[in-house]
Amino acid sequence: MGIKLTALGAAQEVGRSGFIVDSGDKILLDYGVKLGPEGTEYPLPVNTNLTAAIISHAHLDHSGHLPALFDVSQPLVYMTPPTLEIAKLLWHDTLKIAGLEGMEAHFTKEEIAKTERFTFPLTYNRHIEITKKSSIEFYDAGHIIGSAITKLNLHDKTLVYTGDYKPEETRLFKPADLNMGRADFLVTESTYGDSDHKPRKEVEKEFVEAVQDTIEHDGHVLVPAFAVARSQEIAEVLHEYKIDAPIYLDGMAQAAARIFMQYPKYLKNSEFLKKALHNVHWVDKPKVREMALKRPGIVITTSGMLQGGPIHYYLKKLYNDKKSSLFLTGFQVAGTPGRILMDTGKINLNGANVKMEMNLKKFDFSGHPGKTEMLNTIKKLNPEKVICVHGDAEIIDLFIMNIEEQGFEAVAPKRGETINLC
Ligand SMILES: [Zn+2]
Ligand SMILES: [Zn+2]
Repeated sequence: MGIKLTALGAAQEVGRSGFIVDSGDKILLDYGVKLGPEGTEYPLPVNTNLTAAIISHAHLDHSGHLPALFDVSQPLVYMTPPTLEIAKLLWHDTLKIAGLEGMEAHFTKEEIAKTERFTFPLTYNRHIEITKKSSIEFYDAGHIIGSAITKLNLHDKTLVYTGDYKPEETRLFKPADLNMGRADFLVTESTYGDSDHKPRKEVEKEFVEAVQDTIEHDGHVLVPAFAVARSQEIAEVLHEYKIDAPIYLDGMAQAAARIFMQYPKYLKNSEFLKKALHNVHWVDKPKVREMALKRPGIVITTSGMLQGGPIHYYLKKLYNDKKSSLFLTGFQVAGTPGRILMDTGKINLNGANVKMEMNLKKFDFSGHPGKTEMLNTIKKLNPEKVICVHGDAEIIDLFIMNIEEQGFEAVAPKRGETINLC
């Protein structure tokens, strides 16, 4: 019996992750969406009877389409308990946004409830048999709360799926746990397959200095950040460096932070996060939002790639204020307003394309490994074959060259393509 992998999404692109590993048992790895400039894009449909599904972490590009699956099939789904909690928050938010925009979502509240009923919460380092021939184990991925690297044992072969992972320690999370032995096949993310990151401590320092500088010059600092993990990390960094200015936390990062506090074991230092969150003003009503711009301060809010959310409220007020700063903190997917702003210096506000006058800078607070870290992981797991996913096409090309230079075989499936692994 051979093993085949079919890519439903995140194939030579970032977003809408979805892969089916077929060894007789058919296991779905992630089922996410891509929030593109022309609306949401979906992975290919699942046209087979699944044995099980696995969600690596809650980010919508990995979990966002899962409830839609329950329209047609009902596999048992494995994910960590915090992944389920955060994903539920994001799924309900998806329904809310669809409602506000007068669009129809691809799933209903009932399907979210069904997804929850069919979810088997699995913690790290617990080996579990899903059938007689297949078993799985999760390892801490260090990317966001509850994020997991999945090791699948299929007959006598092993396949490791990295999902998104971070081998470097960050303020919130321990480094990814890569002590999983050898892998025959490694399905790896490739987000930064062409470059390395600066050490996190350096990035933090530069960020804090830039924040300080803006505040001293009487400006506001807007920090668009992903609701899950990056926002809370930024709150910790500002607390650690004792920034002397009010800090506001707006948008869904607040609800996510509450979930974080329910799962202290999945954090590196929950006490410190508690203190950092105590130090911020929670924007829970419009009045607080108005207050946030009354005097120089920092606003951490969604969305991280400027696709919507409260950041637009602040941008409309500040985009032409030269004293203020807009500090991006994460990967900007091609086609998103954040990426367009970086490339053109312009942003669409209220339907008009305006020139950004704020001091614009991107800080590399990445939740992903750099090229060298990924190559080290490959050497450590020593696979027969590397399958590169979750990366822009040009970046994957360079990454594959680098992998091959190390003497490994690497491929990058296209969407819809099936690869015979053995
Ligand atoms: Zn992610
Ligand atoms: Zn991702």
